[in-house]
Amino acid sequence: TTLNQVIDHAPEGVATITLGRRLTNPNPRLASILGAPSQSLVGAPLHQFIPGDDVERVFGGFGPVDVTATETFTADSQARRADGSEFWLRWSATAIRKLDGAIDYFMGMFEDITAKHEAEEAAGATLAQLEKLNRLKSEFVSSVSHEFRTALVGIQGFSEMLRDTELESGEVHEIASDINNDALRLNRLITEMLDLDRMEAGRIRLDLKPLHINDLVREAVERARVTTTKHSVATDLQPNLPMVMGDSDRLTQVLTNLLSNAIKYSPDGGEILVRTRCANLAVETDVADHGLGIPPEFISRLFGRYERFEDKNAGKIIGTGLGLAITRQIVEMHGGKIAVESVVGSGSEFKFSLPIPVSSM
Ligand code: ADP
Repeated sequence: TTLNQVIDHAPEGVATITLGRRLTNPNPRLASILGAPSQSLVGAPLHQFIPGDDVERVFGGFGPVDVTATETFTADSQARRADGSEFWLRWSATAIRKLDGAIDYFMGMFEDITAKHEAEEAAGATLAQLEKLNRLKSEFVSSVSHEFRTALVGIQGFSEMLRDTELESGEVHEIASDINNDALRLNRLITEMLDLDRMEAGRIRLDLKPLHINDLVREAVERARVTTTKHSVATDLQPNLPMVMGDSDRLTQVLTNLLSNAIKYSPDGGEILVRTRCANLAVETDVADHGLGIPPEFISRLFGRYERFEDKNAGKIIGTGLGLAITRQIVEMHGGKIAVESVVGSGSEFKFSLPIPVSSM
């Protein structure tokens, strides 16, 4: 009886199990784990609660006759309580043998590990997320270094040419403007990297003034046009749009980024169309290209920091994966929204809206 008392109060579920894998002598803890009264458990087949495969795997481990070993086999199973609800059960069976080595019966131990299991899964998910961020960050570092190096190699090469070669003034001019472009590129990279951190930390204030989005679009389009010969950049701007409250430098940054992406990710050229219109109490601007397009599974990640889609086409195009993260941040700081629609192989359309202030309606 002392042993029975111990078993009755054991913190784990305990029962004996027959050779036919039926429960006998369940203790109260097992009854509460399985959510069934003890009497109803007596004689119940194990597979009523535990998936048959797991039961076979555990009991399949025992040899029929063995005089030397006390063996235990354990499994974590997705088990079912009497009411049908599922939970995680860690359980083991130990063979109790007769003198001749044949199995007499089994001792079963049962522990509800649902909470542990869930904690492990949550920890696993967090870890996976951290690993992903870490991977993105190292890709970022390597692509940024690549961009820095490319620009520096240009600056270095061109300046050596200036130093070591006798040049016509036209050539000097050309080389100087190449150097200037590379320097601008470096500057843009550094600004991008610093901007995002500052914006996310809320350390950047917008300088809001009433402005006409069409003015900003026209300027940005002019500047984009001179960067490409393969693309034509067209506009379709709704006249007399209401003014919006905006930071013109930041909104220019948004437009420049969308335009430069449209150009970058349309390596075969084609038309890029920028449209503005008034819709749903907001001014909408959209930039459409006929480029590589974006696979649907990447769309939800596009605006995340460091996110870049790399396949055999896009992989060669350099970038940091920060541009759209900054773009979204700026649009949202203005109380606006940004979205994208895209079809792989036929092009993408980025659309952002800025709210129209009540006073100008
Ligand atoms: P970057 O261009 O520096 O990689 P962005 O944040 O601007 O970073 O863009 C993130 C990713 O979104 C790009 O790497 C590219 O895969 C995809 N992308 C952005 N704009 C376009 C576009 N117009 N067409 C196709 N893919 C695009």
